[in-house]
Amino acid sequence: MKYQSSIEKNCSFCGNRANLFRQHSGQFLCNDCYIKSIEKIINKTISKYDMLNPDDSVVVAFSGGKDSTVLLYNLIRIQQETYHSKDLIALTIDEGIKGYRDESISIAKEFCKKFDIEHHIISFKHEFGFTLNEIVNQKINSDEYVYACNYCATLRRRLLNDGAKELGADVLAMGHNLTDIAETFLMNILFKRFQLISNQYLFKQANNKVDKFFIKKISPLMRIPEGEIFLYSNLKDFNYYPSHCPYREKDPILRKRVLEFIQECKKYSPEIEFNLFNGFLEMSELFYNQHQQKHYNFCEVCGYPCGNVKTCLYCSYKKEFKI
Ligand code: SF4
Ligand SMILES: [Zn+2]
Ligand SMILES: [Zn+2]
Repeated sequence: MKYQSSIEKNCSFCGNRANLFRQHSGQFLCNDCYIKSIEKIINKTISKYDMLNPDDSVVVAFSGGKDSTVLLYNLIRIQQETYHSKDLIALTIDEGIKGYRDESISIAKEFCKKFDIEHHIISFKHEFGFTLNEIVNQKINSDEYVYACNYCATLRRRLLNDGAKELGADVLAMGHNLTDIAETFLMNILFKRFQLISNQYLFKQANNKVDKFFIKKISPLMRIPEGEIFLYSNLKDFNYYPSHCPYREKDPILRKRVLEFIQECKKYSPEIEFNLFNGFLEMSELFYNQHQQKHYNFCEVCGYPCGNVKTCLYCSYKKEFKI
């Protein structure tokens, strides 16, 4: 997406002067039509992938960053236009990352206050007795250290899932965008995580034994590249927390290299993230059809499904940190 004040073209939708060029589709857009186009993509994604029912109770994973702010704002908009039944609830996980999450949480609180949204915060410190900073400091000099993101993502995923269930949600809405999906898919290919790709298939058949543990998760921004969400947030003048997590900057994680690789490829093939997304849809269906009969173990500590190991990663980390 390019933003220029000097594009000598008219908007492909309304004919007014354009100031945006969407490379992957070849469209020129004015600001108003750009905003409308993003909101239309979100509406269409929700209906095409059957993400919401009018009487669903929806919890939104809300960090105060740009993606979850765009998500929450649009779900409020959709709820006001279409879904009048139940109020949205925002849920924030406070991992305890000094100078980062504490600041994003105060922005999240402000946003919820402005839009009159019920807001809950669950903290690592309260649930586990340690912040992420403290967990990392315990391990950083040992051979077992597997980088902050591994601990953080596993512990946070479980808290979000269980927190949303406790709040009575039918659906947990996540702010993952197209770039996140492309990056995760490529990572999973690089590490041959085919079972994981299969588990992420969007149209899985009901499996009562497994489904009762996990809330239905939806990602309404999954067809919008990160750069376009950034632009939309700025045009809407949202007050979101702009910085990246310090651990993502500091730790030499492969995910960052994969993202840089995708960004580099985009210079030559602007549609590359969409190709990866479509590849994910096709491959997850193929793998799902191949793997769906596979036997699941249930964690001997918490009882959640855990693939072919005896203890799930969440419980292994809890044991490791005596939490
Ligand atoms: S970048 Fe890593 S450590 Fe930071 S919030 Fe995300 S998962 Fe947690
Ligand atoms: Zn226009
Ligand atoms: Zn477990």
